[in-house]
Amino acid sequence: MTDIEKPTLVWLRDDLRLADNPALAAGAQLGAPLVIVYILDEMSEGIRPLGGAAKWWLHGSLEALSKDLASRGQRLVLRHGPAVDVLLELSGEIGAGHVFWNRRYGGGERAVDAAIKTSLKATGVVVESFQANLLHEPWTVRTQAGQPFRVYTPFRKACRAQLPPRTPLPAPDALPLPLPDVRTDSLSDWRLMPTKPDWAAGLRATWTPGEAGARTQFQTFRTERLKDYAARRDEPAADVSSRLSPHLRFGEISPFQLWHGVSPEALAETPKIELANVDKFLSEIGWREFSWHLLFHQPDLATRNFQSRFDAFPWPAVNEASLVAWQQGRTGIPIVDAGMRELWQTGFMHNRVRMIVASFLIKNLMVDWRIGEAWFWDTLVDADAANNPASWQWVAGSGADAAPYFRVFNPVLQGEKFDARGDYVRTYVPELANVPAKQIHAPWKSGGVAGYPEPIVDLGATRERALRAFAQMREEEVDSSSGFTDD
Ligand SMILES: Cc1cc2nc3c(=O)[nH]c(=O)nc-3n(C[C@H](O)[C@H](O)[C@H](O)COP(=O)(O)OP(=O)(O)OC[C@H]3O[C@@H](n4cnc5c(N)ncnc54)[C@H](O)[C@@H]3O)c2cc1C
Repeated sequence: MTDIEKPTLVWLRDDLRLADNPALAAGAQLGAPLVIVYILDEMSEGIRPLGGAAKWWLHGSLEALSKDLASRGQRLVLRHGPAVDVLLELSGEIGAGHVFWNRRYGGGERAVDAAIKTSLKATGVVVESFQANLLHEPWTVRTQAGQPFRVYTPFRKACRAQLPPRTPLPAPDALPLPLPDVRTDSLSDWRLMPTKPDWAAGLRATWTPGEAGARTQFQTFRTERLKDYAARRDEPAADVSSRLSPHLRFGEISPFQLWHGVSPEALAETPKIELANVDKFLSEIGWREFSWHLLFHQPDLATRNFQSRFDAFPWPAVNEASLVAWQQGRTGIPIVDAGMRELWQTGFMHNRVRMIVASFLIKNLMVDWRIGEAWFWDTLVDADAANNPASWQWVAGSGADAAPYFRVFNPVLQGEKFDARGDYVRTYVPELANVPAKQIHAPWKSGGVAGYPEPIVDLGATRERALRAFAQMREEEVDSSSGFTDD
């Protein structure tokens, strides 16, 4: 067999799509028999095991991808275990001539990919990786001093100064035949779906994982929501954001498709859309790029403060009852409870409300941001290794370009401003369904509502406590920097 006739192995990871998938396109183009594999790797060092909601999504996404491949005469091979072992074994088993994948940017993932690449190359296999999931790969964007960015606006400016993102690739019309007899796990054996209890009814009612679901979602966004995006994206009841985050997380749609999908040419068919909407949307895609830039340069972003001065923050012991009240949406603060219940029911939460509930946990309950981050990791369908810790650190004040710690969100004012009619709260907190808009964000001020808890903390007093803790951290900073050093 010549090298060109040897089978090609395409390893899919966070890129569960046929369109705009450079690794798959390269495999299709070679024309040799093609094996397409997904590996469930919950064991390799530095790779964060998926949370419950993300596992639910992954099951649906793999199921959809298998069907899409079957309709093109191909199949998805499923294997599990440490990716280094599994991939090298499979490559040897099929006698692969080429192995292709799209690049990943997390620290553990990069270590795995580098180890595999070295081993495969040593045995004469051609390995190639591609840019597929970020518009700007982290090492290509640098400050003038050659450093990684720590502030968003100049980062975005530097990205915009680069060449425009490449045109997305179409899904391959035809794929080479699979190799027969390659063993595959059965998806159901992976037990990604919850059973006892089955808590996923709300997720099923809300989402359609998979590439077709992503495409429909993006189309709806372009034709119905984008026109109001800039003006109303902060209103949780308005439903104008794209809700593409879980699709992006699993790579069912690429940022290249989004970027080109909102270009003037692509929008020529839709009703007129003010440019500000497109700019705002691309700016949010830019925040995703920024988070990955940060994670690339600090792989332990989910556990270590980006600003090390926050290592001295005096977190008190966790009050378990308060933490559980937050998790269950029973804090007595309506907008917080609505958000936490939206999360529990649907695996998603509106961006503005994510900021409010995170601020409440960190600043009013004084719970370490890492505990909130971990809860989101387990419950969000879009739990993203970069966006989640970067955003939690942003709210905590310890992150890059972060909201200052002393800016404590007032959840009552936030609710009154962004959910002025109370519609969002009413959707997720039925106990408050009959409370008039004027009282709905602070029902305790008008005597409370039967069946709905009183606030678990005093917002004013806890705000002051948080500010004192912050001041204490700063004093320690001054103390420690005023000492003599050896150099
Ligand atoms: C505490 C906290 C935790 C978060 N955790 C996650 C997470 O695990 N996964 C995740 O994808 N996003 C996370 N975000 C960012 C943001 O809330 C979601 O991306 C957004 O709400 C998803 O809704 P959408 O797809 O309708 O967004 P749109 O407004 O339609 O934005 C389009 C896309 O841009 C990206 N994006 C939007 N806002 C942000 C942001 N602030 N930072 C980074 N990327 C952004 C997302 O990929 C999103 O799908 C978090 C934000 C906070 C405050």
